[in-house]
Amino acid sequence: MRQASAPSSHPLWRDGIDSLSLPALTSDLDCDVAIIGGGFSGLWSAFHLLHFDSSLSIVVFESEEIGFGASGRNGGWVSADYPVDLATLARRYPTKDTQGFAELLAKGVDEIGEIAREIAPRARFRKSGSLSFATHERQLQRLRDSVDQRHQLLTYEETQSKVAIPSAIGGLFTENCATVNPRGLLLDLAGYLQSRGVLIFERSFATHYDDGPPSNDGGLWVNDFRVSAHWKILATEAFTPKSREQIPLYSLMIATRPLSAKEQAALQWTPGLAIAEATNNVNYAQFSADFRIALGGRGARYPFAGHLDRALESDTRTHRNLSEMIHKWFPQLGGSDQHSSIDVTHHWGGPIAIRRNWESRICVDHRKGLARLGGYVGDGLTMSFVAARAVAEEIVTGENPLAEMPISTDCSKAKKWPIEPFRYIGANALISSIARLDESEEAGRQSPTGRFLKRLIGR
Ligand SMILES: Cc1cc2nc3c(=O)[nH]c(=O)nc-3n(C[C@H](O)[C@H](O)[C@H](O)COP(=O)(O)OP(=O)(O)OC[C@H]3O[C@@H](n4cnc5c(N)ncnc54)[C@H](O)[C@@H]3O)c2cc1C
Repeated sequence: MRQASAPSSHPLWRDGIDSLSLPALTSDLDCDVAIIGGGFSGLWSAFHLLHFDSSLSIVVFESEEIGFGASGRNGGWVSADYPVDLATLARRYPTKDTQGFAELLAKGVDEIGEIAREIAPRARFRKSGSLSFATHERQLQRLRDSVDQRHQLLTYEETQSKVAIPSAIGGLFTENCATVNPRGLLLDLAGYLQSRGVLIFERSFATHYDDGPPSNDGGLWVNDFRVSAHWKILATEAFTPKSREQIPLYSLMIATRPLSAKEQAALQWTPGLAIAEATNNVNYAQFSADFRIALGGRGARYPFAGHLDRALESDTRTHRNLSEMIHKWFPQLGGSDQHSSIDVTHHWGGPIAIRRNWESRICVDHRKGLARLGGYVGDGLTMSFVAARAVAEEIVTGENPLAEMPISTDCSKAKKWPIEPFRYIGANALISSIARLDESEEAGRQSPTGRFLKRLIGR
């Protein structure tokens, strides 16, 4: 029997898309806007700033390389999903425009598509919607409860016609989702920004960005060089220095070898369709443009004190669970003992940032000349686009375009996570309770914790 070689531990998306190899900052510098972080939040901020005022001098500083963070490692769902459901948002912000917010995100998917078609061919943007499928009655009930004007319930036959998952008994479909190669989108976006005069430095680590207004010499230091900027935008997501405002959790992914034509025929997977099982834990997949199953999920433990630990990017248990999921979802691909016969060629992971209320944050402090955006949980591709546009608009016009939206723009009111060790105990108890809840549901057992967990995670 052929022995499969060990999976590569770099993201699938790196294959064939070389790093940009940009220079590091080696001298002092003046600019209008300094952006810290070279992921989607940082690059979309530069993109929108140029749109609002093309005369601005904009510089991006990335401590590693463009795409090092979650933006280069994610599942490639460009979706209108938000970690907190609309009903919960409406309860939290009774006077705000919750439907308008959902529309803004849905429109964001199409706007990213238009931009990708123009400037990012390597994104391979394909919009075919997303399907959340149920494999038992409790999941199906959850899907029924989620039907709204953008999400429609599918019968067994309708679900199977989108992708052949023999155990799926029904599904929930929305057209507001596309799939991409995220690294292709990000690096092509970086190339476009450079062509428009944005300076991007890699291996350029920024410090002291929160020290006060530029006029007080509260400035920015990058690689020990002084950067004078009227505005600083902090776009460092889970890599933001430890604070109690957010915690990092690891999200993990695997990708298979390209499937043969016969195997593809057995899946009947609508090209570009994103899929997820309606579990309480997050398990999702896309079928890549080069015919691989790229499947992701959570479950790795929270690291004590939020200390980022690269070992958690290859959490063996979570990667094994993801592998087994391929067999569970697609038994027609063959295999035995819960293992699919399809080799896994890549496994990787990365940190996402979670705020106490599971909402994103967009804060613009005019006194300090400092804007912050992030806290997207696992839904950052579209939200970073929307958040970056809001930040750019407020910096250029002074107006907050999201004033009527159910999103907090006052960072001073951020709810904090508990101190350690309570945070460690609580976060890991939450992770294992969600996994146990899925097991109970699958076994047809009632779980007393279900409603409580739903409140905790805002869904
Ligand atoms: C495995 C995984 C799967 C995911 N799947 C999806 C998905 O399918 N759809 C979706 O919408 N979202 C998904 N997400 C979430 C999404 O990827 C993120 O929300 C989004 O990429 C965040 O972008 P960002 O630019 O804010 O942060 P990042 O991409 O993390 O970028 C932050 C950057 O800041 C840099 N940095 C940090 N500190 C400094 C400093 N002091 N100086 C200079 N640079 C600094 C870091 O090196 C990093 O590159 C996933 C995330 C992961 C990890």
